[in-house]
Amino acid sequence: MEHGFIAWAKQRAMRLPKIKLGIGDDCALMASDGSDWVVTTDSLCEGTHFILQECGPLAVGRKLVGVNLSDLASMAAEPAAVFLSLCLPRTHADRLGAEIYEGVCQACQEHNVAIGGGDTNVWDGPLVVHLTAIGTARAQGSWLRSGARPGDKIVVSGHLGGSLLGKHLDFEPRLKLARALYPLGIVQAATDISDGLGVDLLNITVASRCGAEVDLDLIPISNAAIEAAQTSGQSPLEHAIGDGEDFELLMAVDPAKISELPSEVDGVPLTVIGTFVSRTGLWSRNKRGVMQLQPRGYVHGI
Ligand SMILES: [Mg+2]
Repeated sequence: MEHGFIAWAKQRAMRLPKIKLGIGDDCALMASDGSDWVVTTDSLCEGTHFILQECGPLAVGRKLVGVNLSDLASMAAEPAAVFLSLCLPRTHADRLGAEIYEGVCQACQEHNVAIGGGDTNVWDGPLVVHLTAIGTARAQGSWLRSGARPGDKIVVSGHLGGSLLGKHLDFEPRLKLARALYPLGIVQAATDISDGLGVDLLNITVASRCGAEVDLDLIPISNAAIEAAQTSGQSPLEHAIGDGEDFELLMAVDPAKISELPSEVDGVPLTVIGTFVSRTGLWSRNKRGVMQLQPRGYVHGI
């Protein structure tokens, strides 16, 4: 449903000049007299994004802040404030609310972000939490999904796959990485990996009206992806391409400046995994040649 709905919603929304970039990127850009505002919102639902009995409410609060700050990082924005809304199950609303809030406070303190306000509701459904995060844009322009050009190098941070084994609850939104890379002027487009390398790479190619060719042998596979593959029936590579919630940065880097790309920032590796190409679609390259790449990670013959 999501892609069709987003396309329709984008068409349906009234356009006003105050919104410089609306539906369809990691964040919206709102004009102001000073720096533009960068705004994003995300919800987490019990049973879909977390199992409350397994992770506990504090981790839910921390994840909620992290997923939103990850979107700000993908635009190279500086976070300023968050607004929290809680829909708490009636049976233990007070305790749950306080523990989630503690997680939100901890994560906000770590990133020097204010809690600007919010809303609480009690209902008979499961736990659902929402956060809106607001940041300030770079004066020289935000990283967008639409900036990739054929020839740009595809670069990812960190190691991918297997986030369900723990990383999806405990990750570092890549704000420091964005701060280190932005001044180099080498990043043309970016998003964060929330839906999986394949899907998020496809999002950049669609926004940038190009394609992407990935060298499968270069994808940095996490230890968790290798561990998950022992019982899942999928290969580690399929986990790395399809799993999602890595919250790493996926970027297009100017090939003329690729030598300026550091191999790591603060211990977070940066890896070139392929090239954006003019032929639309996702393509994989390995020893056996070039094949179409399924965004969800299914790889023929591996
Ligand atoms: Mg995102």
